[in-house]
Amino acid sequence: SPDITLELQIIPFASKQRLLICRDVSAIEKTEVMRRDFIANVSHELRTPLTVIGGFLETIGDMQGEISPDIQPYFDMMQSQTTRMRRIIEDLLTLSRLENNVTLKDEADIAMPAILNLLLKDAQALSQGQHTVRLHLETEVNIRGSYNELLSALSNLTSNAVRYTPAKGCIDIYWQLRGEEAVFTVQDTGIGIESHHLPRLTERFYRVDSGRSRDTGGTGLGLSIVKHILHHHQASLQIESEPGQGSRFIIVFPAQRVLPA
Ligand code: ADP
Repeated sequence: SPDITLELQIIPFASKQRLLICRDVSAIEKTEVMRRDFIANVSHELRTPLTVIGGFLETIGDMQGEISPDIQPYFDMMQSQTTRMRRIIEDLLTLSRLENNVTLKDEADIAMPAILNLLLKDAQALSQGQHTVRLHLETEVNIRGSYNELLSALSNLTSNAVRYTPAKGCIDIYWQLRGEEAVFTVQDTGIGIESHHLPRLTERFYRVDSGRSRDTGGTGLGLSIVKHILHHHQASLQIESEPGQGSRFIIVFPAQRVLPA
């Protein structure tokens, strides 16, 4: 029946025996679908009123001299919080779109050196000259995948590197070939992450320090977006970090996704 989802697990035990476990996960699956639909619908509904509020705030902001100095700080707060809420809603919509797309819809040959140079420029712009940002193009291989998804995943990692690295730090982006696999690495000399947080970093809204992340303009959804995009590309994510020393985010693209330069 299409309404029933079964999960099968084979566990070897004793020498030639196997244990077959069959679980009915239909109820879990149904709740998961309801959760996804609910988030997608709520995000979609919140978008319009927020656009209207943002639009009027912009109009008021353009009325030079009309806002009294006493009110200005409250007005600025309303504008920045509206921008923040808009970012969260956009990320939620992206996430629910990604959760529903099991396969890539816009697969193409992606020129990686071009994407990487774009990432370098964006990271330099975000850093506003406060960091040293470098690109090490050690290979020119390309990737078969979705341009928008790849750009979004890689730029999430490079912008995190800038946002979680204090001024004067370094951000190094590498593109390398390791055997038949292609490896993207972004390494920073930033605040780092304690090891017990690492396994949970790609969960929705998971943050090491919510106060600090909020200050850096994050939504807590970036790494879950990255995780879904990498899953679509059969790529894996490794995170290495040392508190106070820096972090390294490594993406490994499998041989079947790698195209010659
Ligand atoms: P956010 O929008 O809060 O940055 P992410 O999903 O992108 O959310 O990241 C989750 C958390 O992982 C962040 O809140 C931050 O605590 C931590 N993190 C991500 N990248 C880095 C990094 N390069 N250095 C230190 N911490 C990081």
